[in-house]
Amino acid sequence: MSEKTPKKAPVGYDDTPMLPGSKWRVHDARRPQPTIVRPGTSSSQDAPGQPPSDAIVLFDGQDTSAWVGRDGGPIQWKVQDGAVEVVPRTGSIETKEHFGDCHLHIEWAAPAEVKGESQGRGNSGVFLLGKYEIQVLDSYDNITYADGHTSAIYGQYPPLVNASCGPGEWQTYDIIFVAPRFEGQKLITPAYATVLHNGILVHHHQAILGPTGHKILASYDVPHDPTGPIVLQDHGDLVRFRNIWLRPIKGYDQK
Ligand code: MG
Repeated sequence: MSEKTPKKAPVGYDDTPMLPGSKWRVHDARRPQPTIVRPGTSSSQDAPGQPPSDAIVLFDGQDTSAWVGRDGGPIQWKVQDGAVEVVPRTGSIETKEHFGDCHLHIEWAAPAEVKGESQGRGNSGVFLLGKYEIQVLDSYDNITYADGHTSAIYGQYPPLVNASCGPGEWQTYDIIFVAPRFEGQKLITPAYATVLHNGILVHHHQAILGPTGHKILASYDVPHDPTGPIVLQDHGDLVRFRNIWLRPIKGYDQK
């Protein structure tokens, strides 16, 4: 009795329709396999999770060597208990490396001791390309103008919902940012942001009106590079950050 060789399932085809605008067929056998990435783990209030295996780690709880002051000098923020904390009036900090389209993961906590109100409570910010602010604020039981709440695209779009944890608790942002594109002086496509706050969608592919400002209508007056630093804002409040990592987005318009 001969044993039957099990029939191998085909790995793709070479006689299927071409995908529009692409060099690949539907189920193309020759199409490259996706790169393997080991997923990270979730954070808890007690401990930050692990970043995905291919993430660029910008702050691991101790090492601030990825960061400089906005004047290019060493940062003067305080590293303590696995977090880096704003030291008021020492200035905002920024990454040495510049990034463009990316997925940025960052965790932050407003002071446990509630002081101030509206924009004066746990205010900081995460700036993509050093220009586009996702607001950080203690928005738990705190009324302020809607486009200034935490996770707002500041001065433009309030979050879809207020997903805030309480003061002192660790909160997460996952920001998927696409930089604007210019040709010469002309804007071709605006910046876009998709943001999850504590795992909850608060912006979905939101087109941004222009670089962030205060009490102004943002616009793309001045063309700029498609990359820039990640900036964390010193707004005078004792906000802490931990577990900051980034994955550049490559090939999302894959052909
Ligand atoms: Mg701010």
